[in-house]
Order: sequence, then C-alpha cells, then structure tokens
Amino acid sequence: MSEQVRVRFAPSPTGPFHIGGARSALFNWLIAQKCGGKLVLRVEDTDLERSTKESEENIKKALLWLGLNWDEGVDAGGSYGPYRQTERLDIYKQYTDKLLSEGKAYYCYCTEEELDAERQALMAEGKTPCYQGRCRNISETEKAEFIAAGRRATVRFHVPENQQIIFKDLVRDTVSFDSNGVGDFVIVKSDGIPVYNYAVVIDDSTMHITHVIRAEEHLSNTPRQVLLYEALGFKIPQFGHISLILGKDRTKMSKRHGATSVDQYRKLGYLPEAIVNFLALLGWAPNSEQEIFTLDELINEFSMDRVAKNPAVFDIDKLNWINSHYMKKLSPAQVTELALPHLVEAGYIQETMSQEEKDNLIQFVGTIQEHLSYAAQVVDHVDVYFNDNVEFENDEAKQVLQDAEIPQVMNSFMNKLSELEELSANAVQSILKSITKELKVGGKKVYMPVRVAITGKMHGPDLGQFITIIGKERTLSRLASTLTKIN
Ligand code: GLU
Repeated sequence: MSEQVRVRFAPSPTGPFHIGGARSALFNWLIAQKCGGKLVLRVEDTDLERSTKESEENIKKALLWLGLNWDEGVDAGGSYGPYRQTERLDIYKQYTDKLLSEGKAYYCYCTEEELDAERQALMAEGKTPCYQGRCRNISETEKAEFIAAGRRATVRFHVPENQQIIFKDLVRDTVSFDSNGVGDFVIVKSDGIPVYNYAVVIDDSTMHITHVIRAEEHLSNTPRQVLLYEALGFKIPQFGHISLILGKDRTKMSKRHGATSVDQYRKLGYLPEAIVNFLALLGWAPNSEQEIFTLDELINEFSMDRVAKNPAVFDIDKLNWINSHYMKKLSPAQVTELALPHLVEAGYIQETMSQEEKDNLIQFVGTIQEHLSYAAQVVDHVDVYFNDNVEFENDEAKQVLQDAEIPQVMNSFMNKLSELEELSANAVQSILKSITKELKVGGKKVYMPVRVAITGKMHGPDLGQFITIIGKERTLSRLASTLTKIN
C-alpha cells in the first residue's frame, strides 16, 4: 500500500490571516480530503517579537469559518506534537547537536558589525554577499576568547560546495540551484531559537509530511531546506509551490488593492462558501467552464496538475459575482443578520430593535437582496427604507413630478390608500390601476410619479411591496411632504 498522504498548513501567527494563506490552507485541505490523507496545522511562531496568540486564534477561527478543519495539530493533538514551534525547542536542539558533532554545522561568533563589514566589502567587489566561513574552522583558543569576550554564538550550517541542488516541484517541474551561491547560513540564532528554514525541515520530517504545498514566496527557501534534509538524513518530501497572487494591475496583492485578509471579507458579509470557491480558482483551473463549486465538487475535481505556474490575478468583480450567487440562496432573515452590524455602524439602527422592526427590515431586505454582492452593500440601498424625508435623487426624478396632473394623482392615491382596509402589494397595485382609469391618464403619469414621491428615486423595489413594508402612515406622510415640495 502506498504511504498515506500527509500535508500541512503552517502559518506564522504574525498578523491578519491573508487571503493567500487561506488559499494555501484550502489547497492542502483539498489534497488531504481527496487522498484520504491528513492535514496537520502547525503554528510557526519562532518570530518571538511578531507572533501573537491573538493572531493564532484569528487564523484558527478563520479556517473553521471557511470549513477547513484539520486532523492533527494545534488544538487537535496528534502523535507528532507539540505542534507549536516554540514548544519544540528541545527537538530542534537534538538535531543541532547531531549536526554539530558531525561537523555539518558550527558555532559562529561573528558580530553583526563584522558580518555587515564583510557584506559591504563583497558587494564593493561585485560579489554575492554571502558568509565567507570565518568561524568554520576556528581554534578552541579563539573560541574561548570569543566566549570570554561575551560573544554569543549562532549555529551555522556548513553548505557543501559545488553541489547542484535539484528537486522536483509539482507545479514547477524540476528546479535546480547551485550550492555555491548559498553561503553557510544561520540555523539557530544566538538566543537558541531556530530559523524558519531549519525548524520547517525538522518539523515536516518528524511530522511525516509527504507533500509540502505552499506559496511561491518560499521557492527560494527550498534549496536551503533540501540541503538540510540531506544533511539530517531525512527523506525529501514532494514540493509544490503555488503561484503568487497579484492584484488586477499585476503587482503583488497588497493593501493597496483593497481587503487582503479573510477577516475583512468576513466582516464585509462575504460568505465562506464563496470565498472558498473563489480561492480555489486562484491558481487552479478545473477541466471545464464550471465556476461555481461546492466543497464536495472541489474535492472531486481538484488536482495539483491543474495548478498553474503563472501568477493568479485577484479579481474582486469575480469574487463579488460568486458571492452574489451564494447570497441569493440565503433567506432575507440571514442576509439581514449579516447586514445588521453595517446598519448599526452607519447609524440606521440601534444595537437592539423590536421584533416588529426587525421583521419589517427583513421584509425590506428581501426586496433588494438580489442586487447585493455582499451584505455590507445593504447600506447603499436602505436610505429609502429608513429615511422618511424624501430627497430627489436627481433633476430627472424631480421632473417626473412636474406634470399638471400630478397633484390630482397624488391626492387620489392618498385618499384611496387611507381608505384601504387591508394593505397589501396587490391592493396598492389595484389602486394605481384604478387611478389611471378614473383620471384617464397613462400609467406613466401614475406609477413613476408615485414611486418618486415616496422614495425620491425612479427605480427600486416593487412599489406595492415597498408601501406594504413601510406602512400606510409613513407612506402618507412622505406623500404629503413631497406634495409641499412640488407645489
Ligand atoms: N510559516 C510560513 C509562512 O507563514 C509557512 C512556511 C511553509 O509553508 O513552509 O509563510
């Protein structure tokens, strides 16, 4: 039987959870699901200054919100833990001791100033600024002197010379690097904390990861990691580096391009199904024209050989289109729930509202739902609902109310509406129709003017429905006040 597929997602909890991280997590999750494998969640928190518990919590919350659960790792446990790098320092130390004793690594006592001077000198000569190996062969006496002088050592890896580093990449085929450009690099800092390139190798190997699928940003780290795999006698996993995500202007996706974190999209009222669907298409292409995928369909269709080498372009219009597709499946009550924080923030409603107010709002949201790409957009549509002070959206709208017959139409409508016993969309439509007959005017002189008089706008939700939602009293008062404005 072939070995079980084990993939991992290994975020550094140093800030908001970027959309690119979510895509890496998704691809790994899909592979695990597809192959009946396991997804490990490992927290790479060796950057002590920038790592926070809060960021770790955010990442985990966002993963679960997206529906990307993990089989093993932080919170889930497993046989190869701990799964937080700062809790694995003794594991790294064992391997460092081994490398040191085998002469594959050495203590380096160079100070920052010395290293900097070396770099400057090399650059001045037009050479690659990599470490020249001063501490590779220092004597015990020199070592003792450095220690006595209070210097603290880093551990450097002794990079073998003249070696072609070749590895297979599932996305990029064969990748090769020359070891001569690498230079002996630090694997453990002077405070005893391993660097990413070192910890990641030990972790991926001791956690029996079979496929390392991550962002292209890490492709340039892989040669160092391959050298470490070899030095430690570890089996090299399959690598797959998924392409960069660019903004529409084809520069690297950044804050300039709008929201970049999963949390920002969640707060704007995007739906997890839509984000997952969109992320799947960022760098992976299905075998057909299909664009809307459920998670189950993605599991079936996904394969690494349809992951593109070219950068993926983050197209917000496409995300909006996908999201609106999923929004249409929600009930008005669900959309309203997503929109509430935005309505509070915009000052339209209070944190608490009566059930009746809420029911009314839900009904109104039902009339505009199909126009929404994401829930926060509700704010752009609700003024007609909340604001009884009718303002004309433009001169054209105002013009609609200028015909000689309009006051008569309005008065007739107001009379009939106030006499109406049971308000309903149909009843309103009947009133409008009866006015055209009684006053012998075309529909154009009735429907549009009444709409403008109540909403200030020439287009909008079904008028009968809208009037039924805001009620008789508010409709009549809006009409009365509009009449004073046109007379
Ligand atoms: N901790 C790294 C990051 O967040 C991931 C490294 C990897 O996947 O190997 O970028």
